[in-house]
Amino acid sequence: MIVMKFGGSSVANRGQIEKVLAIVRSARERAPVVVSSAHKGITDALVNAAKAAASGELDSEQIAPIERQRELLAELECPPDLLDPFFAELGDLLRGISLVKELSPRSLDYVSSFGERMSVRAIADFMTRNGLPARAHDVWELGFVTNSKFGRARPVEGWELGCREAFARLPADEVPIVTGFVGKNDAGEITTVGRNGSDLTASLLGGALAAEEVQIWTDTDGVMTADPSVVTGARNIPHMRFDEAAELAYFGSRVLHPSTLLPAMSSDIPVRVLNTNRPEHCGTVIETIAAPNPSATTSIAYKEGQSVLVLRTTRMFAQVGFLARVFEVLGRHRVDVDMISTSEVSISLTSANRPGLEAAAAELRADGEVELHHGRAILVVVGRHLPERPGLGVRILQGVAGAGVNVEMISYGMDSINFTMLINDADIGRAVAVLHEMLFEPSGPETKPGPTA
Ligand code: ASP
Ligand code: MG
Repeated sequence: MIVMKFGGSSVANRGQIEKVLAIVRSARERAPVVVSSAHKGITDALVNAAKAAASGELDSEQIAPIERQRELLAELECPPDLLDPFFAELGDLLRGISLVKELSPRSLDYVSSFGERMSVRAIADFMTRNGLPARAHDVWELGFVTNSKFGRARPVEGWELGCREAFARLPADEVPIVTGFVGKNDAGEITTVGRNGSDLTASLLGGALAAEEVQIWTDTDGVMTADPSVVTGARNIPHMRFDEAAELAYFGSRVLHPSTLLPAMSSDIPVRVLNTNRPEHCGTVIETIAAPNPSATTSIAYKEGQSVLVLRTTRMFAQVGFLARVFEVLGRHRVDVDMISTSEVSISLTSANRPGLEAAAAELRADGEVELHHGRAILVVVGRHLPERPGLGVRILQGVAGAGVNVEMISYGMDSINFTMLINDADIGRAVAVLHEMLFEPSGPETKPGPTA
């Protein structure tokens, strides 16, 4: 059995859904379980409609996600009334929100859930009429019971058993088309695992069902050496280790949702990232033990919009528990720290949570001198050979310096597979281009013989 997840762009319109049909049909022998996102743009439209309703600005004659879903039904030649019950329920729900002018996380999850609930039905209907018998399922009917953390729900302990039993009862002659992203708590209330969470649903199902592999079908040729929209020479990475992929996912790789890999990783199930528009391309396989990768580094990623807090104090000198106190303050203000560097008398740390950092700074002024800087970016080079290749760090820094980019902070841990730098947001394009050329492009210094640093 394999789990095949298709993202919003893969099911954006009839043309894309026809590609999905061909891909699933050709995998028929491997007993595919399809997990689908909402059609591209629908979840955004639902969230916007919910917000508009809460602020009393809902146009109840023309609810955008309903209009768009109707167009898709027509494009797919589905029965026009296929989703009428959903349209009615969604309309009522939005009117309810506009009456109370209140949008709780619970109601927002309820509204957001319609995208996947509608898309799976439209897709299953389309596939069945086009010769591939398929059936739509809400994942909560298949044992996906979550906790009540609306907006970031996770399945409850022991859910896997119910999930396996539910899948065992499904008829073998129909491809299950299952909603990504959504769930229900044990009180029967709808939850979601978080935006872009269908990957996570797929990886959780793959783990629970001990799938042969989890396939993430998207619109790039697997995971790339850098963001192709920034670096024209970005290349596919055929094999990656889980830890390399996890570093990248965390640092804003556009392809994978950060927590997606965890369930697959702990069940040791390979994750394959593939391109719906080029199904013949090998994509990227992410495994615990990946094939040898001779290149020094695996890829380059970055995360913009970071703020930096610098705390200077002589009180830290030879003090026990000082960092604990700083992190207690940060934790209370919900600051998640990405990068940190300390000396005897100062700490620099970064976070994307600017308001949290500002609030923490106000408190930390009691402990020393505090500075805040904004508009920075974390730039990270990931590669399993980093710990063992002398001079690689030097070359990375020289490369960045050669592009005239100032590195303001560095972090590199013992045996670490990521070399992390902090630079100005405005320098990202230049720095990534230079590093990519140096580390990945065949004519770059990396593959040229000659002296190395
Ligand atoms: N439809 C949801 C979103 O747009 C989940 C997903 O696409 O993975 O966030
Ligand atoms: Mg998506």
